[in-house]
Amino acid sequence: MFERCVPCAPRGSLFALPILQRLVLSLALAFAFPAFAQDGAAADAGPGDTASKPLLAYGARIAGDDARTRVVLDFDRKPEFLVRYVDNPVRVIVDLPETAFGVKAEDMQARGLFREIRYGAMGARSARIVFTAIKPVAVTAADVKSDDGGKSFRLVLDAERVDRARFRGLLDEQKWTGSIAVPKVAQPAKTDPGQFVIAVDAGHGGIDTGAIGVDSKMEEKTITLAFARELAERLNREQGVKAVLTRDADEFLSLNERVQIARQKGANLFISLHADTLKQHDIRGATVYTISDKASDHLAASLAERENLSDQIAGVALSDEPAEVADILIDLTRRETQAFSINLARSVVSSFEGQINLINNPHRFAGFRVLQAPDVPSILLEIGFMSNKDDEKLLVDPAWRRKVADHLAEAVRRYRLGGAKNGG
Ligand code: ZN
Repeated sequence: MFERCVPCAPRGSLFALPILQRLVLSLALAFAFPAFAQDGAAADAGPGDTASKPLLAYGARIAGDDARTRVVLDFDRKPEFLVRYVDNPVRVIVDLPETAFGVKAEDMQARGLFREIRYGAMGARSARIVFTAIKPVAVTAADVKSDDGGKSFRLVLDAERVDRARFRGLLDEQKWTGSIAVPKVAQPAKTDPGQFVIAVDAGHGGIDTGAIGVDSKMEEKTITLAFARELAERLNREQGVKAVLTRDADEFLSLNERVQIARQKGANLFISLHADTLKQHDIRGATVYTISDKASDHLAASLAERENLSDQIAGVALSDEPAEVADILIDLTRRETQAFSINLARSVVSSFEGQINLINNPHRFAGFRVLQAPDVPSILLEIGFMSNKDDEKLLVDPAWRRKVADHLAEAVRRYRLGGAKNGG
């Protein structure tokens, strides 16, 4: 990918295009040859530092107006980085190696050309900052400067408002430079054909924190991971069941990757766990969702819309995702799968009844992208709402977590018995 950049790099203006190419080249090397990147980092880090230690971002300053904005980030070591653009909405993506963000939230507050700034882990070894712009922008300069005799490093990014045509040009230019830092999907694990595999998906993660609790200020991504681990452990105690986690760390996975991981692990079921917030703080209880083109109600539609924003928050371009194959066979499979998903949802509702709080009409449906596997029955479980104080207390309680996991395991058991009766 980067071989193609080399002959072109010295050409053109000193600004946006060569910068992008130079950055693509250095980061492509870093990602293609992690050992190479580590050696480089070790050389920069100086004696006593280990290359495996994440980069530390400890300061930030953002200044400017809606014509020009400068972003300055302070690092403890020289950062390797890559800048690229994504459209709809216009975003500037800065990819970094694994980074600890010790930056004050108020210093990373969006201003000038940017209306939102998110940052956090992508994979286990990479991090990302996503700047969502109010108008098309170009990064006219991106440089690392060393301060204090090499004790700290400043990454300076200058962004300038440009017209749509110029922005489209920037998007086209980066197409042939190749896109990197798209997290890799895990290799399929060898599963015993007699085993019933359940993919347990902890919603959100890494740069996408999900909802934030009103009282506890806990992030949804932390709660979902704790639940997912508990549930996987519980399910693994069931005979013939093997539970696998889509993520077992605070890292970002695109919605499509979650589906692909489940399929590659040979999942017979997919359960995505969430604990969102609602504007109506009095609403509480669990909800089980299955996929549908048409939402069952307003609440379901707006939740699906928010969940589907996850990729956008993390700066994943829709073009990074493989196009879905339209096929009549897939359509038939999908319909069959849908019937199984509904059975599972009903089974969860009946296992919860009288034991775990449920909202009114607890089985709802909407167009959740994470439920799109054509061949894996899938449900999304909103365990409770962090916008409700009573639910929030339960969500952070390990004893309650165990209780929910027990009832979910029972639901899976019932589902499997039902499936066997129908010859499935
Ligand atoms: Zn969520």
